[in-house]
Amino acid sequence: MEIPFKKDLIGLSREELLEELKSLGEKSFRAKQLWQWIYNKGEKDFDQMTSLPVVTRSKLRDFYFISRPEIIKEQTSVDRTKKWLLGFSDGEMVESVYIPEADRGAVCISTQVGCSLGCKFCHTGSQGFTRNLSSGEIVSQFMIARDSYGEWPTPSGEPRYLSNIVLMGMGEPLLNFANVSKAIKILMDEEGISVSRRRITLSTSGIAPLIPKVASDMGVKLAISLHASNNIVRNQIMPINRKYPLEAVISACREYRKIAGYRQHITFEYLMLSGINDQDIHAQELISLVSGIGAKFNLIPFNEWPGSPYKPSSPERVKHFSEILQKAGFAAPIRVARGQDILAACGQLKTKN
Ligand code: SAH
Ligand code: SF4
Repeated sequence: MEIPFKKDLIGLSREELLEELKSLGEKSFRAKQLWQWIYNKGEKDFDQMTSLPVVTRSKLRDFYFISRPEIIKEQTSVDRTKKWLLGFSDGEMVESVYIPEADRGAVCISTQVGCSLGCKFCHTGSQGFTRNLSSGEIVSQFMIARDSYGEWPTPSGEPRYLSNIVLMGMGEPLLNFANVSKAIKILMDEEGISVSRRRITLSTSGIAPLIPKVASDMGVKLAISLHASNNIVRNQIMPINRKYPLEAVISACREYRKIAGYRQHITFEYLMLSGINDQDIHAQELISLVSGIGAKFNLIPFNEWPGSPYKPSSPERVKHFSEILQKAGFAAPIRVARGQDILAACGQLKTKN
């Protein structure tokens, strides 16, 4: 157990870490060394930080600690997808997932405990909102994955096993903007974890006023959970659409591209719900909705969870829907669900019963 008055260093920005070291009477280059130990080498024990003087290490030990969430449960799917149930110091929990590909893979990170937006198809949404995660709690989910695969120090180039990050776990990242932004900057820092902004995707249900800031403040890729081609259907399945209807979301996407550059595609995630949003007319509506945005679709087969109110569209329907979009010139791959046997697929994450 850590003594409560000690302070956790994980999640501090570089500037904040520098301030802490100054308060100990240390020179500023020590902050840089410490940063590298924590985020490049993954070291948790000050005594192992051999480039720091013994007195510095002992001061650090007296006032600080380097935390990881507690791994409450770790499951591995038959397809090698991994899911961690992580516990924080106040007893709250989230899930994180690792989705391996041949020579790379994405870590799917949560940004809130629960979610306040209550999308009807989402298991996380059905559990309500508890609290935001801190920047440290967001960053440490990725560090747990690195610990688990032993991918420390940060590999200098490619390939990397843990190459990508998707903010597609529990919670709405744009409703925890400050902490998410701070966490992303820590994850991207080239002297630390060093995941490039091109390998980080933020997924949002469409908090329109904050979408352009994904480009200007973070510079990462954007995915929009669209899931409907008109406001009538979207209002039914995503209550947030009443506040930020499709027109507002789409115009925010145009702003995002103005800032991010027109070569930057936006991925529109589209859940295929049988009889709700999967008819030909919906595909036609989608095509006119996103025209001129540099859009790419990702068709997501609906993952059922206990008590879910919808049924997945048939594979034939999904394929046909994809073909309509492709004929209109859009990429529209069908996502292969991963980790279903351990409920690790999109929208299945939940920590409460
Ligand atoms: N709150 C953000 C990010 C987390 S959700 C957002 O909504 O974008 C990550 C993705 O999983 C979203 O695209 C979400 O719509 C999708 N999802 C939710 N429930 C799902 C389900 N039951 N099956 C498949 N995907 C689901
Ligand atoms: Fe929240 Fe996203 Fe789930 Fe909607 S889909 S309830 S925004 S986590």
